[in-house]
Amino acid sequence: LFVNAPMSSGAVLSLGKDQSLYLAAVLRKRVGDETVVFNGRDGAFLGRLTRDSKKAVELELVERIAEQSPASDLWYGFAPLKNERMDYVVQKATEMGVGTMQPVLTEFTQVSRLKQEKLEKNIIEAAEQCEVLSVPRLEPEIALKSLIEQWPERHGSRRLVLADEARASASPVGALSELNSDPVGLLIGPEGGFSDAERELLRAQSFVVTISLGPRILRADTAAVAALAVLQATIGDWR
Ligand code: SAM
Repeated sequence: LFVNAPMSSGAVLSLGKDQSLYLAAVLRKRVGDETVVFNGRDGAFLGRLTRDSKKAVELELVERIAEQSPASDLWYGFAPLKNERMDYVVQKATEMGVGTMQPVLTEFTQVSRLKQEKLEKNIIEAAEQCEVLSVPRLEPEIALKSLIEQWPERHGSRRLVLADEARASASPVGALSELNSDPVGLLIGPEGGFSDAERELLRAQSFVVTISLGPRILRADTAAVAALAVLQATIGDWR
């Protein structure tokens, strides 16, 4: 359970309404029962219920059971998608070990307003489900042109892996093998793809490495998971 509060052995946490209801009513936890809590900064703790009211569960932190894992340094940029596909993308990116996510507004992006809070809630739920202790950061959206202009100054030597269906030929493994253990970023386009001008601008950047995910056109949310899996298989876990 993610609880955004300082954690140390012996501390007592008072949970909010939603989490109290979840523990006391859904999981039917009672005083003396235990659960695992984390805050994304101090590792994971075994918490024991000292109060099981549906409105205000209290937990005493018995002991730390896992050290805080180092944050992932994989950056993931994605053109915002509509509603539940957006939720899906941030959940899968969390499960696949992304450290920082940033919505990138492109010419054909069909979504204007992003629900930052809803996306952050999805990220936390995914982190709870896949037991990743360092919760990925969601950065405010940025226009593709600004992302490119600011890249060297904000990302240093990090290479940007561009998933582009126009490169059906090259095998991703070959293109990625030159990256060895450099920190990487991944960029996935919108449902309508990148415009030709955007593709040209991206290709002209020395920090961009373009990969194909095969000869078929994948939906943007499919491409996200496929690209993250290819990166994990070739570059390895991204610490
Ligand atoms: N341009 C097409 C269109 O207009 O529908 C496809 C865009 S695709 C739905 C969205 C994004 O997924 C693309 O911008 C690209 O980043 C990624 N993608 C989809 N299929 C891919 C493939 N075979 N190889 C690499 N990237 C792919």
